Amino acid sequence: MRILIVEDDINLNRQLAEALKEAGYVVDTAFDGEEGHFLGDTEPYDAIILDIGLPEVDGITVLEKWRGAGRTVPVLLLTARDRWSDKVAGIDAGADDYVAKPFHVEEVLARIRALIRRAAGHASSEIVCGPVRLDTKSSKATVDGKPLKLTSHEYRLLAYLMHHKGEVVSRTELVEHMYDQDFDRDSNTIEVFVGRLRKKMGVDLIETVRGLGYRIQAPTNAN
Ligand code: CA
Repeated sequence: MRILIVEDDINLNRQLAEALKEAGYVVDTAFDGEEGHFLGDTEPYDAIILDIGLPEVDGITVLEKWRGAGRTVPVLLLTARDRWSDKVAGIDAGADDYVAKPFHVEEVLARIRALIRRAAGHASSEIVCGPVRLDTKSSKATVDGKPLKLTSHEYRLLAYLMHHKGEVVSRTELVEHMYDQDFDRDSNTIEVFVGRLRKKMGVDLIETVRGLGYRIQAPTNAN
């Protein structure tokens, strides 16, 4: 899952980025509205954290531009405390949720998890596919109740497939959601990660759809 943070407060931006990376996300950062708008317009994020008070272009305008261009990515706004009018303007502009400053990073993480889950159509924090369970809260997975020891790349791969279970996900899409913009991307490595993940899971749930990509699906009679 790949997140964009648009926040001009350098320390706050860094603090959020570190916490999100720690939780298993890939993170891109922008420090003004112009750069933020560009990235959100050109890169496929799973969620965006957007500050309202930004240099160059303010957050509400950035959000309106994305929504006007048909971008449906979940957006969490960062608002100043007690500025109820900002919250109203933000929600009217198409924000999915907001957090007022100052906030606890844990609250941002929880709201981001919920936004990503809901966007993929999952109501609970645990996503289940046959014997595989993904706990989005702890960023851990189990097979038949046994914990899977995954590297960060393997976790990202499994998390993306699980959020989109039953759907065919292309290699390009996986690459775009597993690496940040600066990473030297190579879609051939996906095959290697899928191989390792299958081996660690020990169950044959990840199907290769020839020429299209991969799909995780529970065996019939299971959920
Ligand atoms: Ca600001």
